[in-house]
Amino acid sequence: MQPFEIYALKYAGPFTSSGAFLMWMKDWDRTEERNCYLWCIKGPETTVVVDTGVRPQLAASKKMNGYTDPKELLERIGVSAEAVRHVVLTHIHWDHAAGVSLFPQAKIYLQEKEYRFWIKDRIATRPAFRFYTDDAANLHLASLEKTQRLILLDGDREILPGIECLSAPGHSVALQAVAVNTSQGTAVLGSDSAHVFRNFKEDWPSALIIDLVGWMQTYDKLRAKAASVDLLFPGHDPLMTRDYPQVAEGVTRLV
Ligand SMILES: [Zn+2]
Repeated sequence: MQPFEIYALKYAGPFTSSGAFLMWMKDWDRTEERNCYLWCIKGPETTVVVDTGVRPQLAASKKMNGYTDPKELLERIGVSAEAVRHVVLTHIHWDHAAGVSLFPQAKIYLQEKEYRFWIKDRIATRPAFRFYTDDAANLHLASLEKTQRLILLDGDREILPGIECLSAPGHSVALQAVAVNTSQGTAVLGSDSAHVFRNFKEDWPSALIIDLVGWMQTYDKLRAKAASVDLLFPGHDPLMTRDYPQVAEGVTRLV
């Protein structure tokens, strides 16, 4: 099986906050930066996009700092969003899912529990949850239900040879990570199971905790799956932009 390459596409940022956002209940007096990303997994025959970024209108209304249209970023590495066939949504927070309409041909892979919570459960309409979601993206996803474009997964599943979705709850009801066969062994895109590398390395969660016990079990699972902790990638770390080879403006190669 040919190994895949993984690219991080920084579509917005930096944003600053107290360090306690990135390292839960620690670092209150530190100011830390984070970026927003989507990722592209490229193989000789297959391209999979992980998360979607945010469509331009929403980014403008939220005045997102340093925003670039995800379609433009993908074009810089030779990928047409219109032609992408596979999109994994790690979870339905707006900064990961609110570009889903940019991929009109893609199958969307999502954990069924995550979908049911955000689309069907009235609890998700409460202010503490609505803050993290986007109505238009949710309506778009709901319009795909019962079509062949929405693939709802029940736990771990290899969706293509060498690419496996992994149930990884904690930060969201049913966040999923993505394990990828690469030339360096199995890499794991952990998305917001960590905001920064330090979360994995110091065994400490970041913000927006739904289930802390589940989060720690997720850490055990993802560490066991990745060939090394250096191949376990978080959702928002500026180091993914800074410490990896840049292949185009806003795009770095992680593996
Ligand atoms: Zn999130």
